Amino acid sequence: MPYDHTNIFAKILRQEVPCVKVYEDEHTLAFMDIMPSVEGHTLVVPKAPAKEIFDLSADGVAALIRTTQKVAKAVRRGLECPGVMLVQLNGPAAGQSVPHAHFHILPREDGVDLSLHGRAMRSPEELEPVAARIRAAL
Ligand code: 5GP
Repeated sequence: MPYDHTNIFAKILRQEVPCVKVYEDEHTLAFMDIMPSVEGHTLVVPKAPAKEIFDLSADGVAALIRTTQKVAKAVRRGLECPGVMLVQLNGPAAGQSVPHAHFHILPREDGVDLSLHGRAMRSPEELEPVAARIRAAL
């Protein structure tokens, strides 16, 4: 199946749909997950039209993981969380729901269980103060 240019992350990248942005550079964009499974749940996407991580060039993967490391460090510092989980799903069978490659950055605490997908949609007003703490730690 070819890349679907109507997927929600493609629309966010084209600024047709808003997001609460944390970081952007030439090749990548990081923003708050609209349905966070924990506070601080952040997504990092490549700007290249890649459905899965395997569709990126080696340079594209390098840019994606570089930004993921940078933003994950800021999540850890800014939100003062003891652990950070990075998750990356490829294909519906792996649980991928948006067909544009991405990393999840998930703050973790001892003894707090986590399921990858959240259940409640959050407003930009709720996400913005969390994003500001991450941005300030970049
Ligand atoms: P996947 O299951 O593909 O690994 O994860 C997709 C993630 O994108 C989910 O955690 C979901 O909450 C998030 N998501 C879906 N639609 C939107 C949206 O419109 N805006 C934002 N910021 N996140 C979204």
